[in-house]
Amino acid sequence: MTETDLRALIRTIPDYPKPGILFRDITTLLGDAAGLTACVKQLAAPYTDQNIAAVAGIEARGFILGGAIADRLSCGFVPIRKKGKLPAKAIGQDYELEYGVDVIEIHDDAVTKGERVLLVDDLIATGGTAEAAVKLLQKLDADIIAAAFVIDLPDLKGRKRVEALGIDCHTLIEFEGD
Ligand code: AMP
Repeated sequence: MTETDLRALIRTIPDYPKPGILFRDITTLLGDAAGLTACVKQLAAPYTDQNIAAVAGIEARGFILGGAIADRLSCGFVPIRKKGKLPAKAIGQDYELEYGVDVIEIHDDAVTKGERVLLVDDLIATGGTAEAAVKLLQKLDADIIAAAFVIDLPDLKGRKRVEALGIDCHTLIEFEGD
């Protein structure tokens, strides 16, 4: 399945969740059998021989893709969640939103020092969420091999922001504009 085929499976909702935002809705891609398989396969492909020990997925859409990618790579899955959702001892990292700050967390024993981790989310926009996730994994001394996303919004420069931290990014589809 080509980038054009995958792109056609993504639904764009104008003015959601607020005026001026073009929301890239992947539920239509997830709901398509061939699309979901191709998407997971293409996200996982560069890492099949990379001895990845865990996929870290960002709540919530990163869980769906991350779990499937982890299965394909025969490795574990680690959730990165919004504050207050993880049951055991967790560490947090704040990051800036357009208005205010938010916090994501990871269990403090979710990855061990030097463990080879692939970070996964559905979309990278400003890169603020991914950067916070990278910082969390770095606090646990994980070896972050790369970050993989279905969609990149290049105009928002998130990919460059994450690459500036020394993390390779793998994306399948670009949408110009934000
Ligand atoms: P950012 O931290 O700016 O890179 O935003 C990335 C996170 O917000 C991801 O978890 C996305 O699911 C979500 N997100 C940001 N912008 C959009 C958009 N235009 N359409 C869909 N999801 C988005």
